[in-house]
Parts: sequence; C-alpha cells; structure tokens
Amino acid sequence: MSIASINPATNQTIHEFEPLNKDAVLDAIEAADQAYQSWRETTFAERQRCLLKFADLLRADADEYARMITLDMGKRISESQYEIEYCAKIAEFYANGAERFLADQPMEVADADAYIHYEPLGVLMGVMPWNFPFYQVVRFATPNIMAGNTVLVKHASNVPQCAAAIEDLYSRCGLPDGVYTNLFIPSEFVEMIVADRRVQGVSLTGSEPAGAAVAALAGKNLKRSVLELGGNDPFIVLEDADLEKTVELAVKGRMVNAGQSCVASKRFIVVEAVAERFLEGFKKQLSTLQMGDPMDEQTTLSPLSTESAAVKLQQQVQSSIDAGATVVIGGDRPDREGAYFNPTILTDVTPEMPTFDQELFGPVATVYVVKDEAEAIELANRSSYGLGGSVYTADVQRGRRVAEKIETGMVFINQPTKSQAELPFGGIKNSGYGRELSHLGILEFVNKKLIHLG
Ligand code: NDP
Repeated sequence: MSIASINPATNQTIHEFEPLNKDAVLDAIEAADQAYQSWRETTFAERQRCLLKFADLLRADADEYARMITLDMGKRISESQYEIEYCAKIAEFYANGAERFLADQPMEVADADAYIHYEPLGVLMGVMPWNFPFYQVVRFATPNIMAGNTVLVKHASNVPQCAAAIEDLYSRCGLPDGVYTNLFIPSEFVEMIVADRRVQGVSLTGSEPAGAAVAALAGKNLKRSVLELGGNDPFIVLEDADLEKTVELAVKGRMVNAGQSCVASKRFIVVEAVAERFLEGFKKQLSTLQMGDPMDEQTTLSPLSTESAAVKLQQQVQSSIDAGATVVIGGDRPDREGAYFNPTILTDVTPEMPTFDQELFGPVATVYVVKDEAEAIELANRSSYGLGGSVYTADVQRGRRVAEKIETGMVFINQPTKSQAELPFGGIKNSGYGRELSHLGILEFVNKKLIHLG
C-alpha cells in the first residue's frame, strides 16, 4: 500500500510520501533510545510545559489541522474541529494529571513499609489507524511521553498529512529530538521494530487481523502490548425508554464519523413493545441525512475514508442481503463520485449471516427485535467483540442492572459510548486488552516497581 493522501470525497490524490528504508528506521530507533536516556530524567514540570504548549499549538491552528483530517480521510469538518479540540483537552489532562497518577503508592503490609514506585520503560511503538487520525495518536503518545517514555509511531498509510503534522506539533512544543518520531513505513516493518531490543512495548489500534499480528510479534519477543480493536456495540432499547430522545441518540451513536468508529452503536436491540415505533423514527431520521462535501457545514453524511472501505462495506451488506436480511433503507452506494455509502438499516439479520458478528465500518445499522430485557442481554452478549455498549431506560437502577450483565469494557446508560479524557477506554474479548485514557492509560507502559523498606 502506498503512503498517500487521497481525498475520499473526490478520490483525487493530493500528496504522496516516500517510505523510509530499513536503515533509516534503525537510526530512528537509536535516536528514540538515546532521547529516552535523558527524557526519563526530566521532571514532570518540564514535560508538562511541553504538552501544555502542544495543546496551545493545536488550538492556534485548529482550522488548518481540521482541514487536513477532512482531506485525508473525509470526516465532516465540524467533527474534525471537535477532534482537534478534544486532543488539546487530552494533552492538558495528562500534562496536569501525570504527576498525581504516577505518585508513589504506599502499600498496606503487616510487618514493613513498602510502596509502588512508577518508572518509564523506554522506547514504545504505536501502530495507529485513520478513523480519528489526531485523537488516536494523541491518546497513545501523550500519557506515555508524560510518563517519561519515548515513542515511535507508524500511522495508517492513508493519513500521511496528519501524521507529518502531528510530528511537527510534538517537535514545536519543545520535546527534544527522538521523544516523538513519525515513521512513514509499510506495516511489514513493524516486525523488526517490535523485535528490536531497544523497543519495550507496542500499542495498536485497528482491525482484529492487524491486532492479532502485532500481538503475536509482541508475544514472540516478550514485549508488553495494548490492543484497541474493533467493536460491535449493542444499543439496547427497553420499553420504558424515552423513545424520541433514544431515536435521536441512535442516529448520533451510529453516524459518528460516518459510522467509522470502534465504539459507534452498531447493533440496535429493541424490545418488541416499542420496536415498530423505534424503527419508524430511526428510518425517518436517517433518511433526512444530507450526503455531501465534508468541507461543507451543511453536510450531515460524509464519505467513508477510502474507496476500498466503501467497496468492502458494500460486499458485507450485499452478502447479508443475499442470505435473507431485509433492507429497510439504503443497502447500496449512491450514484456519485467519492467513497460514499447510503444510510442503511438491515433487519432479519441472523447469526449465520456475515454481518451478524462483523464490524460494519460505515453508516449501516442492524436492528434486532427481542421479547424482553433478558433476551436483549443474551443477544448483546452473542458477539465475539466486547468494546462498548449502551442501555436506554427511564429507570437508572434497571439500566445499571442491565449494564452489569453486558460483556464489554464500557457501558453507558441513556447515551451512546463516548470517549472522554477522564474515562478509561478499552475492551474485552476480540476487542483487545489494556486501557487507554484516564489514570489507567498512563499505567500501561510503566514499571510498577516495589520498593520494600525492610
Ligand atoms: P488496519 O487494522 O489494517 O489498520 C490499522 C493500522 O494497522 C494501520 O496503521 C495499518 O497500516 C496497520 N497494520 C495493518 N496490518 C498490520 C500488520 N499485519 N502489522 C502491523 N501493522 C498493521 O485497518 P484498515 O484500515 O484496513 O481497516 C479495516 C477494518 O478495521 C475496518 O473496516 C474496521 O472494521 C477496523 N478498524 C477499526 C478501528 C478501530 O478504531 N477499532 C480503526 C481502523 C479500522 P497500513 O495503513 O499501512 O496498512
């Protein structure tokens, strides 16, 4: 795959980038390792200064960075602007919180004094996806830099303008050379990096196959790893839910980033008492989405990230239609230039169909009608994924009971799963392992050293 920025709204190539050769990668690992030797000795205050400046720089040129995101991967411009502001908040969260999160932790021991002392590990590798091209990288890099590690990042091949801009930002905010390094490399080079003795861990956000490949490399080389993979989040509607509001949230939950989010609501599981009304409202609202140029503020449905993503989604949807799924709306691509896909609702999807247990990365919702709460929980848990999920009910205690039975890493009541700097983010089952964001995110790649005072 070439490293190129191709505007998915037009399928026109904007800019191509030259990949690094292996010698250049080895030089980058050496520079990151050298940088680590002095970066680990810096104070939290020094690191904080850089990352607060990083947040300021992001905000100062927010419009330019937002345009870059939209040109690289097609997201609506207002969503790109939101992403930049959110990255500034994450940087501030760790800049201001890291010292507290990594303070020595006294242990309760009967006959001695002991404590946990946190130390950085060294050079880390990040393999990042295109769907939130700034956020995913900032979520990985910022806590680790605050902890005293240095990072190498291989970004997705279709967002190179963003990749270069992020490296420039981390440099301009005052980080020494080698603390943050962007690598324009094909995915085959990840193996030699993870195997390198100077690299201590790897974090990947992306698809299951990519995650499995990188986890195997990490295992073979005994390196720490964090995986944030796909999801097939349930959106459970109980009979006492505020339906009007729930339908609005269903549209929001499914259509975020044109449906290309790991924690987008994907499986709408509705109890039969309200199923017809829910489906009618959902269909009506999805039908009003305005497909168009993602740079245009009026557009409410943007293209997918690439032409190949739209082709793949079409194949997934068609295979379920061929197997007997019912198309309520959409089901195909519009007759226009660009990587667009029509808003789609499928019903009558059964476990034998491919879309039942696959992540549909686009504006495609599957709606299931169930008898009651118990059946809703059972269906929600019939997934190889376990990332997020949400439950809609007027009774918060009931929502809590249901949430505690859902097999995922995150469950929200009366709102779709969302990411927020203070909240841990991550999954179980095939959605991966480890946590990002919150105080937990900074603890993944540190040595939790026991010091026993005798
Ligand atoms: P990938 O998982 O292939 O890409 C994510 C990152 O992993 C990219 O940097 C990619 O590099 C890299 N990568 C891919 N294969 C390997 C490998 N064997 N070893 C090391 N690195 C690797 O995602 P796609 O873009 O192909 O999207 C496919 C599907 O993945 C989507 O339809 C969606 O279901 C899921 N996905 C989920 C995401 C999430 O947020 N959970 C994000 C993105 C995708 P390169 O770009 O060079 O191939």
